[in-house]
Amino acid sequence: MRTALRVCAMAGAMAMTVASMVAQQAQPAAHHWALVLHGGAGVIERSTMDPKTEAAYRASITQATEAAAKVLDAGGSSLDAIEAAIHILEDDPLFNAGRGAVFTASGKNELDAAIMDGATLKAGAVAGVTRTRHPISLARAVMDKSPHVMLIGEGADAFAAQSGLEQVDPSYFFTERRWQSLVKQLKREGQPIPPRPAGAPPAPAAALIEPWPEAPGAHKFGTVGVVALDRQGNIAAGTSTGGIQAKHWGRVGDSPIIGAGTYASNQSCAVSATGAGEYFIRLTVAREVCALVQYKGMTLQQAADQVIHKELESLHGEGGLIAITPDGQLAWSFNTPGMYRARLAEGGKLQLGIYNDEP
Ligand code: ASP
Repeated sequence: MRTALRVCAMAGAMAMTVASMVAQQAQPAAHHWALVLHGGAGVIERSTMDPKTEAAYRASITQATEAAAKVLDAGGSSLDAIEAAIHILEDDPLFNAGRGAVFTASGKNELDAAIMDGATLKAGAVAGVTRTRHPISLARAVMDKSPHVMLIGEGADAFAAQSGLEQVDPSYFFTERRWQSLVKQLKREGQPIPPRPAGAPPAPAAALIEPWPEAPGAHKFGTVGVVALDRQGNIAAGTSTGGIQAKHWGRVGDSPIIGAGTYASNQSCAVSATGAGEYFIRLTVAREVCALVQYKGMTLQQAADQVIHKELESLHGEGGLIAITPDGQLAWSFNTPGMYRARLAEGGKLQLGIYNDEP
């Protein structure tokens, strides 16, 4: 009897030890964080880029990447990391998002943005915003604080104000370089030139206008986007843009359309796109990449290249995308001469590129 009890006690102790070992093993291993960022794709060429401007782009992309990395490294969520990086790019007049956005044909800045959470498939998007300093945070507020997915125009700005997001005069988004670029395009196309926006600084002397490094007639790059994987293993995507220069009639591009320019699901991948939005909408580019990963078992890079170099090209569309999977695959793909881009994974080195001959 005594022996039997002792055997039982030993078995119990062993069972407890095994149980605690199993429990320890069952603790989910912390994921390594990673992120990919873009600052727009287009005709971005060394021949039209001066060293000062190039250095400014590299510095800003580095700063935004580091801001997201800091959030992820501290255990923050992929959504918070995306917002932190995009705030920096929206505030930087170099990019076609927030301050520095392109103008519509009637001389306004109309901003679009979207964010999506791969863990819950919750998403928020805004289009045609004119008063909210950080459209990406408005998209986040739509996702977190409203029952809706997409808000537009004045209603979206009103919701931003109600949610306590910083409101600015529309002239806050004005930059001389973008204005001159609009005027040039409208003249070239024989379209009427709208009056200089109210609240814009007085027009400088022609000699003082800084040139914009772009080929004439080229797609106006500078949309920004980030995809990220956090230590909890969740991925997310965010995109912010002024859209396409000289757009008419309340045009909305792919960036704020879930599945076109922005998409995230922990079942497949997270994508942020940039380029001529009409093509990206028709092809539902972001969701298409994730579907190829999810249902065809493609690697992320194969799926990204299939959509950009086969499907987009077959429609003669131009642009690119960045993507990430929950298992840490990172990808970018573009069919334009350049795309501002960077990627960084925990413990790795920042990889930053602009032109298509860089790795
Ligand atoms: N995709 C954006 C749009 O069509 C523009 C861009 O990415 O440059 O609105």
